[in-house]
Amino acid sequence: MLRIKLHWQILIGLLVGIFCGLFLTNDVKYITWLGDLFLRALKMVIVPLVFSSIVSGVTNIGSGENLGRLGLKTILYYVSTSLFAILTGLFLVNLLQPGVGADLGFTKQVEGLAIAKESFGKTLLEIVPTNVFQSFTESQMLQIIFFAIIFGFFITKVDLKYQSNLTDFFNSTFEVMMKITLFVIKFTPLGVLGIVAGVVAEQAGDKAALLDIVGRLGLYMISVLLGLFIHAFITLPLILRIVGKVNPLKHFQAMATPLITAFTTSSSNATLPLTMEAVEDNSGVSNKITSFMLPLGATVNMDGTALYECVAAIFIAQAYGIHLGFVQQVIVVVTALLASIGAAGIPMAGLVMITVVLSAVGLPLEGVGLILAVDRILDMCRTTVNVWSDSCGAVVVAKSEGEKLKV
Ligand code: ASP
Repeated sequence: MLRIKLHWQILIGLLVGIFCGLFLTNDVKYITWLGDLFLRALKMVIVPLVFSSIVSGVTNIGSGENLGRLGLKTILYYVSTSLFAILTGLFLVNLLQPGVGADLGFTKQVEGLAIAKESFGKTLLEIVPTNVFQSFTESQMLQIIFFAIIFGFFITKVDLKYQSNLTDFFNSTFEVMMKITLFVIKFTPLGVLGIVAGVVAEQAGDKAALLDIVGRLGLYMISVLLGLFIHAFITLPLILRIVGKVNPLKHFQAMATPLITAFTTSSSNATLPLTMEAVEDNSGVSNKITSFMLPLGATVNMDGTALYECVAAIFIAQAYGIHLGFVQQVIVVVTALLASIGAAGIPMAGLVMITVVLSAVGLPLEGVGLILAVDRILDMCRTTVNVWSDSCGAVVVAKSEGEKLKV
């Protein structure tokens, strides 16, 4: 088993998981603990990994000028690819019109919508933490990233003596965190097996109801999935090829393990340790760039989520028979981008963020209930695209900095 490549092991885990989920419906709890344990281990790694990685990344980037240049490139890549994704979704949802004539009868009640809507403006303000220790204990990624960038930047401003002590300390901590990560990664096949078995068993319970809903929301799902497909297999590879001058297929192969993990966990954050390992070791991007860009990307760069926000909001408008004019569609595009930046890298975060888009154009918030039933499967797919885009960004920026890569 150990000689089989890791991504094949994971695929085997996935298939065995589906099998167990289908046939062990009641005894599946004897397997799902594997998934729980794996997710716990990944979550254990995330906060110290992100903090040490960004601090060491920023100090290694060195001067403020370098940091500014890398920061600008990163933001440019994140915003432009997210916009490409949103426009792809916008085009498809207007073309296919999945919401026209949709049956509103099975709308589900969703709690906590108003709260999510209210808190968005605050989210932006709250990027600046009042108590960093609280940010750490609550895994507030944006706050942790903000503090890490500031902390790393000012390390480069202190006396050389302190500077080298702290740089060594954070570089060493980061090395240890990566070693722990590599150890956890070895268990991915078992973790995936457990997670998939749980999800399949849960869904298999009311198979008939699910099939019915999938049927009715079919065109909506197709719009999202087709958009994700175009973005992942056409737009991003073109950017890799033209801007980065790298081989998209090779990079895709290098990313096999994190991509399958993103698909099963539906969490960019949980996948982050694996993404960092793959982009660095398999694609050959320097630690300087991965340790700065990837933790940031896992939290703010979500192309898949951005596309999905746009398609879902317009689908809901169509279903309620509300026509959105040009200006309103522009508002949808902009708020979809903001919602994707604000969404956390955890399962179903994007679903809640749709309220931001809906309220911006005056659509009923209850519309979220319409798309709830199929969100799990769409979440898996959009998370995979989110992680894929993060990795492409690191490769493109590394190339533009003159790095020699393995892809
Ligand atoms: N689950 C997604 C992620 O972690 C976010 C979302 O719900 O769209 O990237």
